[in-house]
Amino acid sequence: MAETFRAILISRDADKKQSVDVVEMSPDDLMEGDVDVAVAATTVNYKDGLAITGKSPVVRRWPMIPGVDLAGTVVRSDHPKWKAGDEVVLNGWGVGETHYGAYAGLARLKGDWLVSLPERFSARDAMAIGTAGYTAMLSVLALEDAGISPADGPAVVTGASGGVGSFAVALLARRGWDVLAVTGRTAEADYLKGLGASEIIDRAELSEPGKPLGKERWAAGIDAVGSHTLANVLASTKYHGAVAACGLAQGMDLPATVAPFILRGVSLLGIDSVMAPLEKRERAWKRLSEDLDRRMIERIATDSGFDDLIDTAREIVAGTIRGRVVATMR
Ligand code: NDP
Repeated sequence: MAETFRAILISRDADKKQSVDVVEMSPDDLMEGDVDVAVAATTVNYKDGLAITGKSPVVRRWPMIPGVDLAGTVVRSDHPKWKAGDEVVLNGWGVGETHYGAYAGLARLKGDWLVSLPERFSARDAMAIGTAGYTAMLSVLALEDAGISPADGPAVVTGASGGVGSFAVALLARRGWDVLAVTGRTAEADYLKGLGASEIIDRAELSEPGKPLGKERWAAGIDAVGSHTLANVLASTKYHGAVAACGLAQGMDLPATVAPFILRGVSLLGIDSVMAPLEKRERAWKRLSEDLDRRMIERIATDSGFDDLIDTAREIVAGTIRGRVVATMR
């Protein structure tokens, strides 16, 4: 394998000043792994934006190829489960943080990290979904496993016009939930209604410090935002409801009280996509392929290419990206 390929490389100098460059690499430059995947498509998650801008310490090994999500074709395998020609998806596992990531023509990965590309999806579809859609699905499954159903009342989704939020709205609506979409971009009301939201709530209503308990408004929640927003979501969750917490777009803090837990039996469900075990991933991708129709993917996705990745990463941190941006590599 002598061919070279392009990659985005984040480096740090002696003063810890970060730089981002497009470089030419060869397979010999890659890190250890038992499967080589030719990257067909990738995407930009909020975390990739943080890595490229250096706004938060996502990268923990230098230099680093960012990109936490990829879909592609196996070109070499020493792993018993995979052979050349297999189409696979990779989400997380520290890829793009501690292990060279997706923003390259070739990725060398552990076979244990990979999931088969569901038959219904192309590599581009899988990256339109990406970690955001897979995390939204993990959140829906967690609510279902907690025994909450659409008959219990509406579901609220925060950060609704972002990647996780858009898929959360679409996936909940598909299963019959009445979905209340919380957004700072009320101009995106038509977009969110097109995904299945029945009501739009201005983010400002929930983002400031609130009371320990509020009026019971929803039975379930998927929160991509954290901080006061999550505290207020919990405070307005109905008796025996549940909230899946998966993000921190407003902040890592949780300035809440225990009142919703001890007075209303509300459950707070933690969602981690990065180190989720393989069975959980396979279950989530199976349900994504059952529940997502093409119109939803097309509504949420915008197409781009390798050359757009760095700009898109800056835009997602600036909060100007709606839905998901997919980069097709070839
Ligand atoms: P996006 O940037 O696409 O979406 C985040 C959305 O949050 C924005 O679109 C915006 O929605 C809202 N938002 C942004 N800033 C604020 C703010 N200051 N206050 C309130 N709302 C805000 O990111 P992703 O969808 O990719 O990720 C969302 C969150 O989930 C991130 O924090 C990310 O790190 C986390 N995440 C966690 C995972 C896990 O494994 N637990 C996996 C994937 C993501 P709007 O404009 O509609 O208000």
